[in-house]
Amino acid sequence: MSQHLAHMSVQQLKGVGTMLADKLAKLGLYTLQDVLFHLPRDYEDRSHITAINAARSGASLLLEGEVLSCDVQNGKRQSLAVRLSDGSGQITLRFYHFYPQQKEHFKRNTRVRVFGEVRLGASGLEMYHPEYKAVRVNEPLPDAKLTALYPTTEGLTQARLRQLVGDALVFATPQSLPELLPPFINQRFDLLQALHTVHNPPNHIKRELLLLRVHPAQQRLAFEELTAHQISLAQRRQHVQILQAPVLAADCPLATQFLDLLPFSITNAQRRVWQEIAQDLQQAKAMLRLVQGDVGAGKTVVAALAACHAIAQGWQVALMAPTEILAEQHFINFNQWFSQLGFKVAWLSGKQSTKERNTSLTIVASGEAHIVVGTHALFQESVQFGRLGLVIIDEQHRFGVEQRLALRQKGEQWGMCPHQLIMTATPIPRTLAMSAYGDLDTSVIDELPPNRTPVTTVALPNARRADVIERVRANCQTGKQAYWVCTLIEESEQLEAQAAQAIYEELQQELPELRLGLVHGKLKASEKQAIMAEFKQGNLDLLVATTVIEVGVDVPNSSLMIIENAERLGLAQLHQLRGRVGRGSTVSYCVLMYQPPLSHMGQERLAIMRATTDGFLIAEKDLELRGPGEVLGTKQTGLVEFKVADLARDQQLLKTAQQLARNLLKDNPHNAQALVQRWLPNAPKYVAV
Ligand code: ADP
Ligand code: MG
Repeated sequence: MSQHLAHMSVQQLKGVGTMLADKLAKLGLYTLQDVLFHLPRDYEDRSHITAINAARSGASLLLEGEVLSCDVQNGKRQSLAVRLSDGSGQITLRFYHFYPQQKEHFKRNTRVRVFGEVRLGASGLEMYHPEYKAVRVNEPLPDAKLTALYPTTEGLTQARLRQLVGDALVFATPQSLPELLPPFINQRFDLLQALHTVHNPPNHIKRELLLLRVHPAQQRLAFEELTAHQISLAQRRQHVQILQAPVLAADCPLATQFLDLLPFSITNAQRRVWQEIAQDLQQAKAMLRLVQGDVGAGKTVVAALAACHAIAQGWQVALMAPTEILAEQHFINFNQWFSQLGFKVAWLSGKQSTKERNTSLTIVASGEAHIVVGTHALFQESVQFGRLGLVIIDEQHRFGVEQRLALRQKGEQWGMCPHQLIMTATPIPRTLAMSAYGDLDTSVIDELPPNRTPVTTVALPNARRADVIERVRANCQTGKQAYWVCTLIEESEQLEAQAAQAIYEELQQELPELRLGLVHGKLKASEKQAIMAEFKQGNLDLLVATTVIEVGVDVPNSSLMIIENAERLGLAQLHQLRGRVGRGSTVSYCVLMYQPPLSHMGQERLAIMRATTDGFLIAEKDLELRGPGEVLGTKQTGLVEFKVADLARDQQLLKTAQQLARNLLKDNPHNAQALVQRWLPNAPKYVAV
């Protein structure tokens, strides 16, 4: 009998030693089964030529055009730069390693066909070291096959990964990689056929179809993945339900005292959501509630109210935020409120000194601290709680489900489990939330505090930059503050920081009379915080920032926001950013700057941003424009990342998957566990009840 692939180490593949095994481990690949379920994210397609003006950074494409020029350029490193045009647009081919005669290949007007990854470089769109060859007009395309492209890690090439998958496929037989779904689930593809198809698509399949993940082979895998996911959710639910949670009285005089401290009265929506939370907290079963509320809806106050119920009865509260800036802001608010009421609030962050940290750890462990506010640092091993009764997580989409569970498990002592409240400004349609989290109840704060003046949004082309700068000057001269947000398409904090620095210097020159600050992801947390504090205190007029300020920063006196390259950002992100203004009672403006010509998608997005400030409407449009896979399936949301399934697209599979999951757990727990192991090897393992 052949060995089960879930028990065969990657090192059993030809040429895989400890070094390569370590790299594979970074991708979560330990066994041959893991390798086979590492599914392609995309496919290389040399079967057609893309027009240069349709080329996007990040895509590997086949292009064809005529040489306009060919020069040796002396930048930081010497390179051969070939300018290519196909009538629709231009691109630069750049060779850092080249030999002198290579110039002969690129005589003016030579027609060349090139294949490579499109990047954003010094001269706009570029390709580094593409494959190329001279061609005649209308030269036929080779009969090219789609080639899988996998998620990978540094030092591991696509070619090597492809080879490993190919080698692993050789070991795959119905014995070594058994079907785990019952035979009555009628599938057009069996497991092995499906895997062969997605890793090595036959010639006739179109890339577009595969990218939509609707090919029957992919749907077959998606169904299995959804089933595994539903099994895992059901296991979690069972696990949580056997744990007791502290019973916290709904009647809470401390909450009333807290409300008296506020300079405003809470909205009806805030009150309703608070009541929903209070209802949960008085059950002996752990609350698991998601509070959705648009930016500025006042989620922090609701969190503080929930905290009142716990600390009033001697339980501790942990409040976790995704960034230092946001966590510190919460700490300042909570400390101010609760110290007045006689409670102690502790601060924990990865960046504080060992001494400060130890002090915090001590008072958290002893129970002297009633509330502890912090970042991810909160769920590290060294943090021990005295009597944790409630965990609050802000801006949940930045945290994964695993992190949220890890924090909860910290509080699990003597069979007791803390309540958990999650707050997010990312509206998720209810059906999606249910199937994504399965185990969450949801509340919505569907009303903004009164007297907010909605932000007026305009879109301006980059050519109007000078006017925009004037506008910043005029705004700040009246004593109000402004943000200037720099965005970069490349996902490198380093490049983004450099770009922000350059813009900061430019603006300093243009606006010498204003006090400017700069924050970006490369600064130390303490530096970031110092600048944010200055801005908050009104000692800076203009804050130049990268998207690090996207989440939760609250400075009511800022009334103008400039967003550069707005056409490159998604609606959700634009909405988050814009939410930083319009927090006080002054009229606020948001200027979306863009580089024409706009794509269709870009036009739609900017139009929606101008038309509405309603986060739920924007989220719906976002779903429409991008499709739910993008909205929910990505890292950003912190939801489970699926390999092939998509909660929205595959909704028709979900019901059956849910039913099957239940049956398998009951009738065939061994297969149920094997499915979870196959698809979600990192899911927490619960001892069967
Ligand atoms: P978010 O929901 O985006 O987290 P915050 O909790 O930061 O919003 O609240 C935004 C601002 O609105 C804060 O300055 C807060 O003090 C204020 N605020 C909250 N609730 C109310 C209310 N009911 N009336 C007036 N202002 C409020
Ligand atoms: Mg907030």
